[in-house]
Amino acid sequence: MNQPTHAVPVMEPPSPLRNTRLMSGIDQALSIKHNNLVYDLRAAGRDVVTLSLGEAFFDLPLPNFDELITTGLHHYSHSRGLPELRRSLAKYYDAQFGVPVDADHELLVTAGSKAAIYMVLLAILEADDEVILLEPFWLSYPEQVRLCGGTPVMVPHDVSVSDLAGYVTPRTRAIVINNPNNPTGHVYTAAELRDLHDLADRHGLLLISDEAYNEFIPPDQEFLAIGALDPEKRHTVTVNSMSKNYGVSGWRIGYLIAHRTLVDQVLKINQHLVTCAPTILSAYLAENFDRVLDITRPQIQRTVRMRQEVEGWLTERGIRTLPGTATFYLFASLGGSSLSSTEFAARLLEESDVSVVAGIAYGASCDRHIRISVGTESPDRVARGVAAIDDLIRATTPGAMALNSGDRPVPCSTQRE
Ligand code: PLP
Repeated sequence: MNQPTHAVPVMEPPSPLRNTRLMSGIDQALSIKHNNLVYDLRAAGRDVVTLSLGEAFFDLPLPNFDELITTGLHHYSHSRGLPELRRSLAKYYDAQFGVPVDADHELLVTAGSKAAIYMVLLAILEADDEVILLEPFWLSYPEQVRLCGGTPVMVPHDVSVSDLAGYVTPRTRAIVINNPNNPTGHVYTAAELRDLHDLADRHGLLLISDEAYNEFIPPDQEFLAIGALDPEKRHTVTVNSMSKNYGVSGWRIGYLIAHRTLVDQVLKINQHLVTCAPTILSAYLAENFDRVLDITRPQIQRTVRMRQEVEGWLTERGIRTLPGTATFYLFASLGGSSLSSTEFAARLLEESDVSVVAGIAYGASCDRHIRISVGTESPDRVARGVAAIDDLIRATTPGAMALNSGDRPVPCSTQRE
């Protein structure tokens, strides 16, 4: 008697290209994705007013590597960073901000501060540990926390730093701040930093301060480096970069300052992922540390003044920004526009050839804002961009005057938030 045959289902082998659960939850960096689109449009001949780039362009002399006295420049270097560069950076933090740094044990140079932040998070987070992020946060923080298996805990932008205790749970491991802030330009006050520091101290948290824009501060404003509150580095980490202050974002050189026990952990990750920062570029920066800063500083101040001026233009048009004075970013309100920040940025690019970054990239509480960067365009072109932003806000605000910005009286009377 024939037994009924049970068809054995043929299992498709899993695709080696399948997405992991982790990567399914990771987004592209929205600003970079948007700027890739801008690069493509420009390559196709579109004249895009680019107010979306995360850097300022400076006139810098072309590097002359022939003058470098160091040998072995085409090779790997010390995985903590070239000793000469570490010493220059340690001296800089000590002289500028009164933060004592042992260049041999408390500082690590790597391929960009982005990598430095990620490696710190990887070194400290267990699965499902929480990291508090203050909106608007720099958009890579939450994805980096997720990449490390942690959970980002977002704090809406209208919550004061003194009210963060309610966000701390038994799983909280760290708080990340960006001082001065991308995208608002906010410089943390001494009182705010003390509050954050005390909170970290009370709950045994690590306070990570990303100070990548520390030179972009108006001359009359004080900048307090987090390390000044914690010279022993018991619960603070400083992250910084050559990208913005030196105008060499493509060179990929950033660094962190932390307690030597943490630096030793990060060093292992650095050795397995990166080995070392680019040697020849590190050598150039070590040798020309003060000279390049002497060249960029006046240009940085010009950029900060430009930011102030653009803030004035926005205010005249009735467009508000979240409070801030530093960097080259403005975080502008969409007022009564019926568009989400993503729709707004897409339409602005499509209809006016002006690129900005949608506020939603910086946290859920920021969808009524866009980030405007004034670091890479001439004042005339920034003005063109601001006019287009104003026009689109008006065109999409129910009941607003549909005047073209050229015809419109200034300041405008449209009600904005
Ligand atoms: N931190 C902040 C706040 C930034 O805005 C950026 C870049 O835009 C970075 C870090 C990354 O800098 P780096 O070029 O050193 O990786």
